[in-house]
Amino acid sequence: MVRVRFAPSPTGFLHVGGARTALFNFLLARKEKGKFILRIEDTDVERSEREYEENLMDSLRWLGLNWDEGPDVGGDYGPYRQSERAEIYRKYANKLVDEGKAYFVYAYPEEIEKIREKLLSEGKPPHYSQDMFGEYNTPDRRREYSEKGLSPAIFFKMPQKDYKLNDVVKGEIIFKRGSIGDFVIMRSNGLPTYNFACVVDDMLMEITHVIRGDDHLSNTLRQLAIYEAFGVQPPIFAHVSTILGPDGKKLSKRHGATSVEAFREMGYLSEAMVNYLALLGWSHPEGKEILSLEDLISAFSLDRLSPNPAIFDPQKLKWMNGYYLRNLPIEKVVSLAKPFFERKGIIVEDEEFLKRVIEITRERAETLADLPEEAIFFFRDPEVMSVPERLKPVFASLKEEIKNVEWNMNEIVKVFKKVMKQSDVKPKEFYMTLRRILTGKDEGPELVNVIPLLGKNVFMRRLEKALGG
Ligand code: GLU
Repeated sequence: MVRVRFAPSPTGFLHVGGARTALFNFLLARKEKGKFILRIEDTDVERSEREYEENLMDSLRWLGLNWDEGPDVGGDYGPYRQSERAEIYRKYANKLVDEGKAYFVYAYPEEIEKIREKLLSEGKPPHYSQDMFGEYNTPDRRREYSEKGLSPAIFFKMPQKDYKLNDVVKGEIIFKRGSIGDFVIMRSNGLPTYNFACVVDDMLMEITHVIRGDDHLSNTLRQLAIYEAFGVQPPIFAHVSTILGPDGKKLSKRHGATSVEAFREMGYLSEAMVNYLALLGWSHPEGKEILSLEDLISAFSLDRLSPNPAIFDPQKLKWMNGYYLRNLPIEKVVSLAKPFFERKGIIVEDEEFLKRVIEITRERAETLADLPEEAIFFFRDPEVMSVPERLKPVFASLKEEIKNVEWNMNEIVKVFKKVMKQSDVKPKEFYMTLRRILTGKDEGPELVNVIPLLGKNVFMRRLEKALGG
């Protein structure tokens, strides 16, 4: 059974890169009828915060990426927060020590740093080995540590040999012997390092596939060595390419919004986010671009993950968002759009009216936040625009003629034609001026759609004001 995990560190909001990783894992789990696990990697106590954890979960739920096991829903392989698994890591680290595959180090961090500096000053790579710690691993030190209640760090003995990784995305990768030295797996504060916790958890949680960003490739060497030390077959690895900004540099804040939450706030739809993220490094076998979560699940396979860097193009995401905005069921768009209207101070009591307004304005909007901008004139009179002297007669006669007309577009257009005929105004100029009077803008939805919805009272009021009274 396929078991995959998304393992964020709760040190910030869910970044689009993380969201894409979560999505690929989710898709594989759903496609293969396996399990999708959420594991919180919060061993960096300084930087981890519960609030971020909540926030990450919120963003994942919003995207529709529900997990089968995790800190909130539980499961047979818990706990799912690394901070609650300290005993487990200790036990497994001690096992390696007992087997001579790892060793205690009673040196203080400054002393370890000194060794490093010495190696560097001698022009050697900063690779640790057990013999370098001899002078600290003395009975005195041990006593000192136990008196002070400190735990020794545990270093993993890195076997000096080549390691081979058959990555699903990157292909075969050989890590040459000697490229790293021994490394810490348990810190003196009793907490594991990322590489160790990750392997212990993936092993105990019976993870079958690890899909993650290729910034973790260099960690994979350490992880392969730890799996070997435990005598356990590593999972299948798929390292997906880093997401780059349009300028080819690693996607970062400089490129604008990068967190899922920020896009949500800006009025992006989860359907568009999911669809767009899936195409960053994966492609549909028939090149289809508009894909729902269900479509993605049925078409997903690891062999279509691309080894090339993916470029995050905010314009394309926006375009796609516009597509979903126009094509999702109107009721859904209305309920999602309501808070965006409220934020602009537009409290809508008449849902049916809002629905008709959105039906008209969504044609021109790309995000939910565009909707109240586009639709503002349905709720508030625009700034008064005074009709140019030359056109006053025709709009004055419009006012008279339209007063008693039944409010349907057929009748209304008849009046427009009649008053235009009486003067030499060109239709284009007439309609442009009328649009400005009614909406305060030069562009917008078709007037034939706007006018019936505005209603006669509003029409008359704005026209009268424009005529100066
Ligand atoms: N906590 C790691 C991260 O957020 C997880 C990496 C992994 O998937 O192994 O990058």
